[in-house]
Amino acid sequence: MTKESLLFCASEVYPFAKTGGLADVSHSLPRALQDSYELKVVMPLYSLIDRKKYAIKSLNKSFSILMNNIDYEVELFGCDYEGVEYIFIYSTLLCDREFLYGTPTSGYPDNALRFTIFCRGIVELLRANTYDIVHLNDWQTALVPLLLQEESEINTKTLFTIHNLAYQGVFSYETLREIAIDSKYFTIDVLEFYGQMNFMKAAIAYSDAVTTVSQSYADEILSAKFGCGLDGFLRSHKNKLTGIVNGIDSEHFTPSKDKLLEYPFTNLTQKKLNKKSYLKEKNLKGISKPLFIFIGRFTSQKGVDLLIDSLEEMALNDCNIAILGDGEIQYQEKIKEIVDRYDNIHFEFKYNEVLSHQMYASADFLLMPSLFEPCGLNQMIAMSYGAIPIVHKVGGLKDTVNGYKLFDKESNKAYGILFDEALSDSLIYSFNEALALYSTKKDYNKIVKHNMLCDFSWKNSAKLYDKLYKQL
Ligand code: ADP
Repeated sequence: MTKESLLFCASEVYPFAKTGGLADVSHSLPRALQDSYELKVVMPLYSLIDRKKYAIKSLNKSFSILMNNIDYEVELFGCDYEGVEYIFIYSTLLCDREFLYGTPTSGYPDNALRFTIFCRGIVELLRANTYDIVHLNDWQTALVPLLLQEESEINTKTLFTIHNLAYQGVFSYETLREIAIDSKYFTIDVLEFYGQMNFMKAAIAYSDAVTTVSQSYADEILSAKFGCGLDGFLRSHKNKLTGIVNGIDSEHFTPSKDKLLEYPFTNLTQKKLNKKSYLKEKNLKGISKPLFIFIGRFTSQKGVDLLIDSLEEMALNDCNIAILGDGEIQYQEKIKEIVDRYDNIHFEFKYNEVLSHQMYASADFLLMPSLFEPCGLNQMIAMSYGAIPIVHKVGGLKDTVNGYKLFDKESNKAYGILFDEALSDSLIYSFNEALALYSTKKDYNKIVKHNMLCDFSWKNSAKLYDKLYKQL
């Protein structure tokens, strides 16, 4: 039987370029689907990608994209990486930047143009080869379903996944001309959004199916509280919206196989070697004290304000706290000011994959007080690395973390500590619960060992995507 063909498109894919969970998903979901589909993954060839390391070669195909009387030259590149075929779209304006989307203080002003080049590049790929399905991810790919309205020869079905509704790709009306989109699409049913143009609306309007990355988030974004101004629009397209929870890659995020760890581990005695080494390296004292970690982008979404408001009270206890993140400078300054006064808090303002793995492997608890969370991967990584997550009961956190008081050793559920209200008091209350749990070693170990055996892989969710593709 011939397999259906699938083009998976994302603006970041691990290990080539990553700023967050989208890159992890774009790496691991195609791997979980590759046996069932003729599959290719497409992304921009940012200049920060190491072409030599991944043997990325020119495909000797180029074309130009004409927009607003300007020709943008595009060249296609490709490579095979761990059995998956990648296509890279290279164009100077899209790719030759220091960062993917912008500096730590603001997005690049020409992002609409940059990612329209990406979208038009994807359409070229769909024109050159027949694909049954194109799976688009987030606003950077969201113009594709609109562009396909003008392509009567292309019959590819479209699936659009919302990884985070907070980033919709909103630009001024004037941008429409720059990116050569007909003003007939500037209506309330498609692109128009409070007088501006909204990329994500185009995908919601024209995709054959829309998914988001957990069932709870799929429900939440239909409400004004979480809908980021699109809840009404989403409600009117509700019949094609479903939630499919993300998984984590079982090669990359399994502690016994993790190549980034000094001591890959299968049990808590081995895990402790990582903790010992990490504490020593970061000059933190006390192997028997619980180690709490926070890893994430410094944005309000991740509950960084709650963390900052609680930090001193937490640090007064017999514990260590380690924070790794990058993003908004204001948060960096506030945390640094506190950290300077406590020798049991360690803080690094950077993005570092190896360090993050080392931290998951060393930690006893993960702090994840996100105000909203479409799915969240950190909590699943933490649970499989033997760290109990402390999370705000929202979105994907609610779907993947179960309250430890309901622990059932026969279940396949993973357990952590949840709090209902996004308040620093609630976080501190849960932190104290964590201290109490840690002091009853037996209960703590029981939960950690159970979590480490739970299945966080893509096995189930890949089946749901497979089913959805088949329905299309
Ligand atoms: P996001 O909203 O950022 O996509 P997710 O929880 O879905 O959040 O995924 C975050 C991913 O990025 C995880 O793999 C996490 O370990 C990683 N990560 C976040 N910040 C950092 C950092 N500063 N250094 C290394 N890895 C990070």
